[in-house]
Amino acid sequence: MELNICHLYPDLLNLYGDRGNVVTLARRCEMRGIEVTVTGAPLGERVNLADFDLLFLGGGQDAEQGVLLDELHNWRGAEVKAAIEDGAVTLAICGGYQLLGRSYKTWDGKEMDCAGALDVISVGQKERMIGDYMFQWDEPGAPIHIVGFENHSAKTYLGNGVTPFGRVLAGHGNNGEDGTEGARYHNVFGTYSHGPLLPKNPKLADWLLRLALERKYGSAELESLDDTLEEAANAFMVARLANE
Ligand code: GLN
Repeated sequence: MELNICHLYPDLLNLYGDRGNVVTLARRCEMRGIEVTVTGAPLGERVNLADFDLLFLGGGQDAEQGVLLDELHNWRGAEVKAAIEDGAVTLAICGGYQLLGRSYKTWDGKEMDCAGALDVISVGQKERMIGDYMFQWDEPGAPIHIVGFENHSAKTYLGNGVTPFGRVLAGHGNNGEDGTEGARYHNVFGTYSHGPLLPKNPKLADWLLRLALERKYGSAELESLDDTLEEAANAFMVARLANE
């Protein structure tokens, strides 16, 4: 078995260790003998997204998001949207999550028309939402606590075309108002969670890998790994945030 991962804009979208998500996905494949390739698609570099099983976008500052906007409008946005409609498993963090949405208006009034791949809009505020946070993810059947770090000016609002990724237990999530965190659509997971997200949330990492393998091979059994340290890191943060 093999999986091909595309890291979109590694040159522009990478905050607070976001790249660690790609490292985690690749490492968890290698430990199971699943062949894995990671290909970067920086600004100006065209790749065939249909060749990939997993797409990853990290977060970025407003200025960096602005740099890639032309390209997003000209061709990349349509290509990413097509891959998402085709079921590509996609993890998008913060600025990358916002850019998959319909629009992002920065706190100082710049209007960014985004990829329109997710039915969400984001509106910047002067006061940033910053800190460790956690949310509950119910999709796997038993509720799972996802821990991460958020730092965003934008409040994101979900349209009818997406569902929330999770329910905020501590911190702000999408907007600090409606209790939602992130967005789910087809095989896309959009979230505000930096940190990086996957090393301390191994169940989510495996969920993404399993989805990608099932899409490619029809079914997938993932050999379990020793996640003692990863689960201890998760539990430590869950306990700390629950007591704040
Ligand atoms: N620039 C965006 C915001 O401030 C995204 C920031 C990020 O990716 N951390 O909302």
